[in-house]
Amino acid sequence: HAKLEGRNGLQFFHQRLHDELVHQLDLMERLEKALDRGELSLWFQPQVSAVSGHIENFEALLRWMPAEGAPVSPAEFIPLAEQSGLIHRLGDWVVEEACRQQAAWRAAGHLDSRIDINLSGSQLARRDTLERFEACVKAHGLAPGDIGIELTENVLIDADHQILDGLRRLYHRGVRIAIDDFGTGYSSLSYLKHFPLTALKIDRTFVHDAPGQPEDRAIMEAAVFIGHRLGLEVVAEGVENDEQLTLIREMHCDLVQGYYFYRPMPAPDIERLLSGLVTGHRGVAD
Ligand code: C2E
Ligand code: MG
Ligand code: MG
Ligand code: MG
Repeated sequence: HAKLEGRNGLQFFHQRLHDELVHQLDLMERLEKALDRGELSLWFQPQVSAVSGHIENFEALLRWMPAEGAPVSPAEFIPLAEQSGLIHRLGDWVVEEACRQQAAWRAAGHLDSRIDINLSGSQLARRDTLERFEACVKAHGLAPGDIGIELTENVLIDADHQILDGLRRLYHRGVRIAIDDFGTGYSSLSYLKHFPLTALKIDRTFVHDAPGQPEDRAIMEAAVFIGHRLGLEVVAEGVENDEQLTLIREMHCDLVQGYYFYRPMPAPDIERLLSGLVTGHRGVAD
């Protein structure tokens, strides 16, 4: 009887694995066409000063809204794109679109907006990714400080000296480089001394649990301390409520990103925000 149960369990497992593979293949096929079909867009989530609430920065986040079917989360399709190699086309599109958008905002008179894009490990593994990035920023008439990059810890573990040199070059030209999801990678802290960084983003799992968990608070405090001692801007990700914000302010995080302030939004919503700030909120608060 036990044997039978075991076999049924295995069959069930095979079926699940099969269904999952079919689902992933289907997504990959549709994702390949998504670019040409105009189903991809960049949304932007503001990061605000923890002290003043002023918008300081925007993180660009890729969105896929298939013509047929429900939106697919980047947490699902980015890993697939990395496996299939499609990430390079997607990544090039993100860089181009972020630069185009930033140039358009500049042309519309928004002179101090800053955008950060995400770069994954497989994107950096392609040798010319950083050169292309720089070239794109330049081609749009932007300054190096206009578009920054976010990298996860795992990217830094895999990075060789060529990637390190590339990042150093960007850094010295004034490109912002943030370490994303800090505290969640399988890494030692030693990369903090080798890599040219300007900001550290504390992962939102810590922020989420901090109000109820002294361990999470302790890790966050250590992250803020180390970040500041290294001269980095410290960003708290995923702030959703007053309690979390109060803690983050007590810890002296510099910037806050999360639903409590703003969700990721399409460009036209950001433009309304920027226009409002130019004439209203910012002027008043200053
Ligand atoms: P990430 O870079 O850590 O981006 C932050 C994620 O947290 C975003 O998820 C954002 O929508 C979400 N978030 C922001 N505030 C809150 C909050 O208060 N509560 C909660 N629960 N979530 C919040 P999203 O947009 O689904 O992106 C997921 C991940 O996909 C990103 O994580 C990033 O690793 C990757 N990704 C997104 N766009 C790109 C891209 O253009 N290129 C690459 N390589 N990766 C991207
Ligand atoms: Mg990010
Ligand atoms: Mg993050
Ligand atoms: Mg994350």
